[in-house]
Amino acid sequence: MAGVILPRFYGCYNCRKRVALHDDIVNKDFVAGYRKRAYLFSHVMNVEAGNKTDRRLLSGVHMVADVHCGDCGVVLGWRYEKVYQEAQKYKESKTVLAKYKIVKLDYW
Ligand SMILES: [Zn+2]
Repeated sequence: MAGVILPRFYGCYNCRKRVALHDDIVNKDFVAGYRKRAYLFSHVMNVEAGNKTDRRLLSGVHMVADVHCGDCGVVLGWRYEKVYQEAQKYKESKTVLAKYKIVKLDYW
C-alpha cells in the first residue's frame, strides 16, 4: 500500500503495552536520570500518573507526577503538572518517557 503511512507506536519496555505515538514527540533532547536520553511527548496513552510533587530537575523545580504503565505498573517517566518558570511553560501537561523504558513497536 504505497503512500499509506501507518502510525508508529512506542510500547512499555516491560509489557509492550502501547503508551505513545511517535508523531506526538515534541522534543528528543530530554534527560532522565543519569545521562539517559528521554523524549517529551505531547500526549501519552494507557498510563497512570502518581502523586504530584515538586521535584528539582535539570531545568529547575517543577511539579511533576511519575507516570506508570497502565498495564504492568512500571515507572516510565514523568508528567509536568505545573511549571513555574515562564520559559519552560510549554512542558506543562506534557509527559517525558525515558528512552530505555519504551520500545518501538513494529506492529500496530
Ligand atoms: Zn507495561
